[in-house]
Amino acid sequence: KTLQVHLGERSYPIYIGRDLLSKAGTYCEERGITRKSRHLIVTDESVAPHYLERVQSSLAEAGYDAAVHIVPAGEGSKSLKVYEEVMTTAISSRLDRSSAVFALGGGVVGDLAGFVAASYMRGITFVQIPTTILAHDSSVGGKVAVNHPLAKNMIGAFHQPVMVLYDVDTLTTLPPREVSAGLAEMVKHGLILDRDFAYWCLEHADDLLALDADTLTYGLERGCAIKAEVVSSDERESGWRAVLNLGHTIGHAVEAVGGYGRFLHGEAIAIGMAGSAMLAEELGRSGLYDETVKMLQAIQLPVTLPGDVSVDEVMEAMQHDKKFSEGQMVFIVPEEIGRVSIVKDVPVTVVRSVVERLQKEG
Ligand code: NAD
Ligand code: ZN
Repeated sequence: KTLQVHLGERSYPIYIGRDLLSKAGTYCEERGITRKSRHLIVTDESVAPHYLERVQSSLAEAGYDAAVHIVPAGEGSKSLKVYEEVMTTAISSRLDRSSAVFALGGGVVGDLAGFVAASYMRGITFVQIPTTILAHDSSVGGKVAVNHPLAKNMIGAFHQPVMVLYDVDTLTTLPPREVSAGLAEMVKHGLILDRDFAYWCLEHADDLLALDADTLTYGLERGCAIKAEVVSSDERESGWRAVLNLGHTIGHAVEAVGGYGRFLHGEAIAIGMAGSAMLAEELGRSGLYDETVKMLQAIQLPVTLPGDVSVDEVMEAMQHDKKFSEGQMVFIVPEEIGRVSIVKDVPVTVVRSVVERLQKEG
């Protein structure tokens, strides 16, 4: 199945299906990627043993020449240090203005390689080859970034890929914790924009967790379609695109405390989505906390903050968030299942009481 992100001359297809890695070369040809330049595949140490060879040989068979850079697995690789190392490979491999960077992996590899592609010679071609459930979200939309120790995604760019090649066969090797974390963004897409899809996720939670091929493929298609629709209407987040940040203000702070790695991104935003539902209750806007928690717990996600996490540190991390200014915060709050609002003037004191409650409920 092919979806389309509509962005004028930067429009691109999302191919979703089985056994797509072995056709990578053919898809490159279709998208007009040149054979005259050298390219670069960026992947990580957990993905490479499973899938690198398949991509490499498909590209080689189609006449493409690509260098490879393998980074350590995990959020730690979204750093300026690893960014510089990938850049070193790009330069020493003599990539030029017509070269492409391929991101083979999850959101970490996608965000890192995408930022390399966005900044190498002020921007070269970028191809997303996602291999996690979470990456149905991160591979679409063109937000690329690395982290700063003080704040998530602080150093980045908008740089759209020329295609997303989503081979669902790769998902079978995902560890169970990564499956749940990835499904968090799928549920998020339902909670934001599609009530029926949110309840579909709840109903099919067990099949999704078991990676049932047809169920998963439908969920990923619907999730990508929602993401593509929002991005197509507001590429640079001048307004409406911000709804995709449901759960992310608290979530990013939770991820940053203790130096990235304790919570997976999807776990942190699950806690953040539970927090947003609480916040909506405290603001008197809706009463969706129990329903939200039920949906998240059905896919085995955490919804509370462990007792040893410092509320002060979470609050401190949140002040560095891009969505914070002048004692007030912008929050995405649920109005009903499948509908959210952007609230621009949430007092920090209310946010603090929500973070405290997130801990007490646990
Ligand atoms: P990830 O890339 O770290 O992948 C998760 C883990 O699974 C890693 O250890 C990886 O090595 C391993 N893995 C990946 N594919 C595998 C496979 N097929 N089989 C076995 N193991 C595999 O993390 P993620 O959850 O995919 O992405 C999280 C990141 O995405 C965060 O940094 C988050 O900020 C970012 N993100 C970005 C956007 C965006 O719009 N750019 C949106 C959402 C999330
Ligand atoms: Zn996210």
